[in-house]
Amino acid sequence: MVLDAISPLGRRAVLSDTHGRIMRDLRVSVTDRCNFRCLYCLPENEEAANFYRSRFDPVKNPNPLKKIEHVWKSRADLLRFEEIERVVRVAASLGIEKIRVTGGEPLLRNDLEKLIAKLAVIPGVNDLAMTTNGFLFNAKGKALRSAGLRRVSFSLDSLDPRNFRKMTGRDGLSDVLAGIELARSLAFEAVKINAVVIRGMNDHEIESLAEFALEKGVAMRYIEFMPLDSQKVWMRELVVPGREILERLKTRFDLVPIESRNQSETARRWRPRTGGGEIGIIAPVTQPFCGHCNRLRMTADGKIRTCLFSVGEHDIRSLLRDGSSDSKLESRLHEIVGFKEDRHHIGEPEFQQPARSMSCIGG
Ligand code: SAM
Ligand code: SF4
Repeated sequence: MVLDAISPLGRRAVLSDTHGRIMRDLRVSVTDRCNFRCLYCLPENEEAANFYRSRFDPVKNPNPLKKIEHVWKSRADLLRFEEIERVVRVAASLGIEKIRVTGGEPLLRNDLEKLIAKLAVIPGVNDLAMTTNGFLFNAKGKALRSAGLRRVSFSLDSLDPRNFRKMTGRDGLSDVLAGIELARSLAFEAVKINAVVIRGMNDHEIESLAEFALEKGVAMRYIEFMPLDSQKVWMRELVVPGREILERLKTRFDLVPIESRNQSETARRWRPRTGGGEIGIIAPVTQPFCGHCNRLRMTADGKIRTCLFSVGEHDIRSLLRDGSSDSKLESRLHEIVGFKEDRHHIGEPEFQQPARSMSCIGG
């Protein structure tokens, strides 16, 4: 614990880990359910099976995707809005400043705008964002903005309706595009597009996605495919390294780097020399940024994860439900942060993929 680092909200020690990093960012998953089946997250339909089948040895592994019967968390398992609000309030008193609401698909959680309204007024929370697949955004965007949501990131991996369907398992491109348009009209502080780039699937769309985003004036983010899918079929050959993405973009656009003072930022960013817009590359596999990681995650069922790749989780739901005081919750958060891993081990022999997929962890 860094004892001389005091939260701005009072004389409380901030959440610092044993590697000298101070936690500022909490990602809150509000559901483990999803209405998409992205082939890098929940690869479960025939098209995903065909894609992976063609990448595996047909003799050794003719059917890489198994039939999965999801056992979604029950309502009672999920943290209630009041419980999430309490954790965020306590975490903010310990120096957490940024909250990102995510899932699963967060827009599947009923009355999400009510949670946003609660989180938006918590002292110390100076950034409130959401990551969504955007399919249901048209129905909710206005209410979320009015409730105090500041920034929104849309997952959009393809601009081709057929490829979009292959990647997400849904005919949803036009709804997502309409959602992005709505977000642009609602004066969010930032609208971003996230694309996970997969070799042989959507890497031919790298340039067109950038053109689309630059033209719309929204920030584009490319994300390397990480071993966090539900079927554990990730393979290194499918990762398009961030450097390769950048080289490709530089042949099309005259890009200049954007210097950042925030070392904990996950994206390295560029902007076109002329005109607006911004492109970022998030390369956790080939250029890890663990040394400056200031993030914690809370799953929808109330487990704190200190790393995307943690193999263990730390329950706090029981504390929320057994009458424990806020100061007990504070101590527990300090204790948990003490377990934060120094880095991930992707690519090393001892690497173990987490049991839960990205959709359950909350990306
Ligand atoms: N359902 C929402 C969405 O897709 O935006 C929010 C949750 S999703 C798990 C959050 C982010 O994780 C998305 O941007 C998605 O593209 C990303 N993601 C999911 N699985 C991934 C993987 N295996 N590697 C890299 N990014 C992944
Ligand atoms: Fe796709 Fe997000 Fe759903 Fe995962 S949680 S399947 S990334 S939409």
